[in-house]
Amino acid sequence: MKKTSRTQGSRYYPKRYNFDPSFRNEILDEGLLCHVAFVVDNQPFQIPTAYCRVGDTLYLHGSVGSHFFMRMAEGIPVCISVTLLDGLVLARSVFNHSMNYRSVIVFGKTRLVSTPEERWMAAEKFTEHVLPGRWNDARQPTESEMKKTMFIAVPIDEASVKFRDHGVGDDPEDMHLPVWAGVLPLKLSIQTPETDTEGVIIDLPDYLKQYNAR
Ligand SMILES: Cc1cc2nc3c(=O)[nH]c(=O)nc-3n(C[C@H](O)[C@H](O)[C@H](O)COP(=O)(O)OP(=O)(O)OC[C@H]3O[C@@H](n4cnc5c(N)ncnc54)[C@H](O)[C@@H]3O)c2cc1C
Repeated sequence: MKKTSRTQGSRYYPKRYNFDPSFRNEILDEGLLCHVAFVVDNQPFQIPTAYCRVGDTLYLHGSVGSHFFMRMAEGIPVCISVTLLDGLVLARSVFNHSMNYRSVIVFGKTRLVSTPEERWMAAEKFTEHVLPGRWNDARQPTESEMKKTMFIAVPIDEASVKFRDHGVGDDPEDMHLPVWAGVLPLKLSIQTPETDTEGVIIDLPDYLKQYNAR
């Protein structure tokens, strides 16, 4: 992953940045949600949306009627961020409170995915990224559903990864204070599945059983 003037932090903590593509990919593969920032007529917009990674490309998908996607179909510069929040760092002083996290920022130009093969591949990877096992279980998209869906690709060659993964950083003079200090770990996790009762009710598929009654 190349460093550029845009991907170098100004308050540069070398230990907080990691330019290893495999670390970047781990974060992108664990995340489910990104924020896409772009500028229209000098006005910044930022839209949360789902994504998936295939190699060194991020794929986004949305309705062909969405203004956001219509803009991206033109091939515009975007800045995409993915953040995983790993913990609340509670220091003895309010000033030294922090958060543990892993985050990726990608700069790139959008590309409308136009071939049927790449569009189908993106649809499959997207579904499998959100929930592995789902593509071959749920009904796959019809031609008409695919026509209503736009796929956008963004190369991830210009990107930065920043993280914090350690405990409290209190000042020595605060260490005697009778204040609880430590880290509250945080994790996004699937809870017990809630079966839809409107249609045919069947047993949970194997790929969801592990989440039942946890
Ligand atoms: C959950 C969370 C909470 C945070 N809370 C605060 C806070 O309260 N106050 C605060 O000042 N900072 C906070 N940060 C850090 C913040 O994201 C920026 O890293 C920081 O404000 C600016 O750092 P900088 O001056 O080195 O980078 P800048 O000079 O502002 O950015 C230069 C380049 O560095 C890279 N970069 C900067 N930040 C990140 C990042 N987080 N991930 C990946 N690449 C990055 C980008 O490529 C960017 O274009 C938080 C981060 C996270 C994820």
